[in-house]
Amino acid sequence: MTLWEAGAGQPLDDPSLLRTDGLIGGRWTAGKVRHDISNPATGEPLAKVANLDEGDVEAAISAAASAFPRWRATSARQRSRLLMEWYHLIRRHEDDLARILTAEQGKPLGESLSEVRYGASYVEWFAEEARRLNGEIVPVEDTATRALVLRQPVGVCAAITPWNFPLAMVTRKVAPALAAGCPVVLKPSEQTPLTALALAELTVRAGIPDGVINVVPAARDRAAEIGAALCASPVIRHLSFTGSTDIGRLLMRQSATTVKRLSLELGGNAPFLVFDDADLDSAVEGAIASKFRNAGQTCVCANRFLVQDGIHDAFVSRLTERAASLRCGNGIERDVQIGPLIDERALRRMETVVTDALSHGAMLETGGQRIGQRHFAPTVLSKASHAMRCAQEEIFGPIAPVFRFRTEEDAILAANASEAGLAAYVFTRDMGRLIRVSEALECGMVGANTGRISNAELPFGGVKQSGLGREGSRHGLDDYVELKSITLGGLE
Ligand code: ADP
Repeated sequence: MTLWEAGAGQPLDDPSLLRTDGLIGGRWTAGKVRHDISNPATGEPLAKVANLDEGDVEAAISAAASAFPRWRATSARQRSRLLMEWYHLIRRHEDDLARILTAEQGKPLGESLSEVRYGASYVEWFAEEARRLNGEIVPVEDTATRALVLRQPVGVCAAITPWNFPLAMVTRKVAPALAAGCPVVLKPSEQTPLTALALAELTVRAGIPDGVINVVPAARDRAAEIGAALCASPVIRHLSFTGSTDIGRLLMRQSATTVKRLSLELGGNAPFLVFDDADLDSAVEGAIASKFRNAGQTCVCANRFLVQDGIHDAFVSRLTERAASLRCGNGIERDVQIGPLIDERALRRMETVVTDALSHGAMLETGGQRIGQRHFAPTVLSKASHAMRCAQEEIFGPIAPVFRFRTEEDAILAANASEAGLAAYVFTRDMGRLIRVSEALECGMVGANTGRISNAELPFGGVKQSGLGREGSRHGLDDYVELKSITLGGLE
C-alpha cells in the first residue's frame, strides 16, 4: 500500500495525478528536502512534498520570464482553447481531484466536488473572456488624430494561495492571468499543495507551454522567504494573495519597493442580518449554508448573526436544532457534513473564542467543545456582544454567535462596525428594506435572502481592510491587464 492509500484511505482512478514535486519551466523539480502533508481527519501522512527554497523561486521567476514573450504573442483564441482544454481535464478528473482535496484539506467529499466544479467554472469563464480583451478607439478633438487604448498583459504574475479552498483559489488567480497573456509563479499553501500540483499536472496535459505555470511548494518555515523573494523581484509585476489580513499587509509593504500591482483577498467578518419579517426557514437554511460549509473555514462565512427582537428566539432555537443535527466525521465517509478543522491551532482558537464569549456573558446553546481530537462541534452562542472576540475577529470555524438588535438603523451600524468588509447577508421579505440595507452595508458582496453568493460571473472581493481588486466576472481580467494609450497623429 502506498503512503497515499494508507493516509487517504482511498485509491485514485488516475494515480499519476498525485504529484509531489514542484513544476518549474515544465520540469518536475524535487528540490533538496521534502516535507510531510497529512490528512487532517486522521493525522496520517499522505505524501512527502518538495520543500523548495528561494533559489527555486528565482528559477521559477526566470522560467516564467522566458515564457512571457511567446505566451503574450499567442493569439487570444489559442490561449482560450488551451484554457478550455484545462477546464475539460479538470472536469474529467473531478472525482480524483475531490478525493485529493478531501484527503489534504478535510472537507466532506461532496463539498470537495462542488469546489472542483466551482474552481473549474473560473477556468471556463476566463477561457471565454480571453477572447474579449478588446481595446478601444476613442474620439478626440483633433480630427487629424486617432486615439487607441490597448489592453496588454501586465507581465509575470505571482500567486499565493490558502488551504481553505485549495483548488478554487488557484484557478481564480491562474486562469485570468493566463487568459490575459501573463505567466504565473504559484506558491500554494503548505498544508494543501497536492491539489495545486494535480492542477499543474493537468495544465501540462492540456498543452499549456512550459514556464507559463510554475508551482513552488514549500513548508511553512519557508513561506516568509518565498514571499519576500516574490515581492522583491522586479520581474514580477503583479501579486495576487488570498489569506490572512496580517500577511496581506506584510506583502503590501514588501511590494512597495518594486511598486507591484496587488490583488488581495483578506479576512472577512461577515454580518448576517435577520429582520422580523424574514422567512424563518430560508434564514436558518441560509445560516447553515453560510456558517457551517467547510466547517466555517471560509472568508465569506457568516461571522456575526444580527437578529431582530421579534424573530430572535425562534431563530436561535431553530438554528440550534439544525446545528446540533449536523454530522461530524471524516469527509470521505458518506453523509458527513462537517469535516475536521485544518489543524490543532485552529481547534485551540475555537476553544479560546468560546471561553472568551462565555466569560463576557454569552450563553452556550449547543456545541462549545471538541468532538474527538480533530473536530469542533457546531456551536451556537446567544447573548453575544460587541466586546467579545467573536465580534471583533474572524472566527474561521463552526461557531455562530447571535447578537440581538431592535431597529434597522442599529443593525446597519453594528454590521458596519468592523475593519473588514468582504461579505454580508440580509434576510427580509420587505423589498424596500432589502435594497436599502444591501446598499448601506460596507462590503463587496451581499447575499440577499441567500447564504450562497459565489459565482464565476460575479466580482468577488472586499472593501476596507478585506482587500483590493476583484476576482471573477468581466472585471476579473482588469488586475492582469495594463492600459496603454496610443495617439496616432498626422492622419490628414
Ligand atoms: P493561514 O494562517 O490561514 O494559513 P496565511 O495568511 O498565513 O493564512 O496563509 C496563506 C498563504 O500565505 C499560505 O500559502 C502561506 O504559506 C502564505 N504565507 C504565510 N506567511 C507568508 C509570508 N510571510 N510571506 C508570503 N506568504 C506567506
